[in-house]
Amino acid sequence: MVSIELKESVWKSLRGSSVLFLKRGIQELRNHTSYDRTTLTNEGAKFSYIFFQTSIELACKAYLVKRNRLQEIVKKKKSDNDILEETIILERLENNTLDFISFEKIKHILKEKMTDEQYEMIEDFQHKRNKIIHFDLKFSEADLIDLNYDFIYFIVHVLLPILAEKDGFDEFYYPNTPSEIYDGILSKEDFLNLISLPLYIERMYMEALKESKNVYQCPFCRRECFGIQERKCYCCGFDDEIQLEFTDCYWCESSNSVAYDVLNLESNDNFIWKTKCLNCNEDCSVYVCHNCENAYSFIDTFPKCTPEYCSTYNEELQKVFEPSS
Ligand SMILES: [Zn+2]
Ligand SMILES: [Zn+2]
Ligand SMILES: [Zn+2]
Repeated sequence: MVSIELKESVWKSLRGSSVLFLKRGIQELRNHTSYDRTTLTNEGAKFSYIFFQTSIELACKAYLVKRNRLQEIVKKKKSDNDILEETIILERLENNTLDFISFEKIKHILKEKMTDEQYEMIEDFQHKRNKIIHFDLKFSEADLIDLNYDFIYFIVHVLLPILAEKDGFDEFYYPNTPSEIYDGILSKEDFLNLISLPLYIERMYMEALKESKNVYQCPFCRRECFGIQERKCYCCGFDDEIQLEFTDCYWCESSNSVAYDVLNLESNDNFIWKTKCLNCNEDCSVYVCHNCENAYSFIDTFPKCTPEYCSTYNEELQKVFEPSS
């Protein structure tokens, strides 16, 4: 077991390098994508692979260091003990001579620690990268369109969540808002720019449709990839577990396209929540009847239920508040 301070130092160093390679990879994507933002160049594809693969390997090592597996992944010399003393690790870290066992040997530890999907994507990525390094692959135009998409998917759904860990969290902390995913790694502008590839948005929309009946604009990234039933945006990773509820829109009549925050409703101006439709983008308010708990979107007059009368149960209500004008 190494001390918390040493663990933090090694983790920070690995994570910092991983972020650096990620940024260089994104730069490649940006500089080598065609003007219409679809196709990557052959050269751009090769260098992106190299940068992203290096980034994911470092991110995985940082991830394992955080989980107290430093002793298992640090490379030992013949003269070293089975357990490397802390002073030696620190000394090698400071001299830039701290070495790690190969990624291939690290993979079995990763497998125990990650979800199957994450692990499979990392493996698949590694195979492709090895092909690129060892053969002078020429990608077809169709490949280059797909690759651009693959990279973005990999960054948003695998690499950033692994890197997004916060200081002080030992267990895997899965971020569920986009700002938590890129915080301290990319700027908001860079993140939104990254997820603006048309093919990526289109495919994420199809993914969202597989799981949710209603797919509208995401409250965070505004792309049409937010599955209402799953409460999840496939484009930016916004994952709203409990906060938002949905009702039909007054303006466009789409079902479940108007979001309101159920936890903040009582403190929010007498059960009225000002919001926007995720389908037509029009402003409206939501009123939640405190008797039947049905929610209605409306503009200036109360819909079916009012503060004095619940139309669902046909009941006169004791006025609990004055409706605001
Ligand atoms: Zn989103
Ligand atoms: Zn609407
Ligand atoms: Zn009611």
